[in-house]
Amino acid sequence: MYIQLLPQKIPVGISRCAVGEPVRYNGSHKHSKVCTQLLSNCFDLYTYCPEVAIGMGVPRPPIHLIVSDRLRAVGREDPAIDVTEALEDYADQIVPEVEKLRGFILMQKSPSCGVRTTPHYKADGKGVLAHDSGLFAARLHHHFPHLPLEEVGRLNASDIRENFLTRVFAYDAWHRYVSPDPRPARVIGFYTAYKYLLLAHCQPLTRALGQFVSNTRALEPEQFAYQVLGKIMEILGHQASRKDRTNALMHSQGHLKGYLNKEERAELARLIDEYRQGHKPLSAVLTMLRHYLPRSPHHFIHSQVLLAAEPAELGLCEFR
Ligand code: SF4
Repeated sequence: MYIQLLPQKIPVGISRCAVGEPVRYNGSHKHSKVCTQLLSNCFDLYTYCPEVAIGMGVPRPPIHLIVSDRLRAVGREDPAIDVTEALEDYADQIVPEVEKLRGFILMQKSPSCGVRTTPHYKADGKGVLAHDSGLFAARLHHHFPHLPLEEVGRLNASDIRENFLTRVFAYDAWHRYVSPDPRPARVIGFYTAYKYLLLAHCQPLTRALGQFVSNTRALEPEQFAYQVLGKIMEILGHQASRKDRTNALMHSQGHLKGYLNKEERAELARLIDEYRQGHKPLSAVLTMLRHYLPRSPHHFIHSQVLLAAEPAELGLCEFR
């Protein structure tokens, strides 16, 4: 299976206040230029403000999350305001729209939109028990457990941005290549194309997925596909390390060395080692591997997503 990036933009949801719309409780916004000026080069951004959508208006009384009989979204100053069910119902209503999205960028710390930084207060509103998801984000995750989610503020960090892009690209590719026809052969083809990229993100989990893919025969095809997608997205959720990337690059080099002369082999090995030591960017190694790629007649190495365009080469994050 040859997986390619599409020339058109990928549909991704985003909190409305992050694109500069003044929809926060106090009529302000939290515009993220990284989202609207950088990521918009490859994403079509679809905006959502759950609190406005449920009719709370702008300005509105601020809410926060308290842990009582369950997690509840109540007024910060007036606990009689309770929009728990309304926020969750709204997330339920937009499921058909979110099915078409390939990622979701959400505002940090918000009682509705936060992914991991929203304070969950004690029932009396005093004292934080935990930092976790807002109600809308949690409901999205419930409906779409594999959909890549990220917080707006975290995307300012190049490595986190790269990781989110990698996950969105993979989730999008899955929906183009596997979802329309989730037979095991296609699932395995997808896994095979991603194998070295997965290795660069987490070696132990990639090996475990390899075992799962080879040995699982008892599941229905749709169940098998669902589980493999879950494991792929879990692996890609790990930040790719230089060490694991080096390992994946060395695997790629192993496929090509039979087609290189002694000097070429030495030059490639030296470049990979310079990358390992942090002296050369990944793109330098990828460029050389791609240069030698046509010499190999083997489909496996040609199909590797690791060797395709990576987010830094698209100008969306820094070279590392
Ligand atoms: S964080 Fe979410 S609910 Fe709050 S203003 Fe932004 S989009 Fe609306």
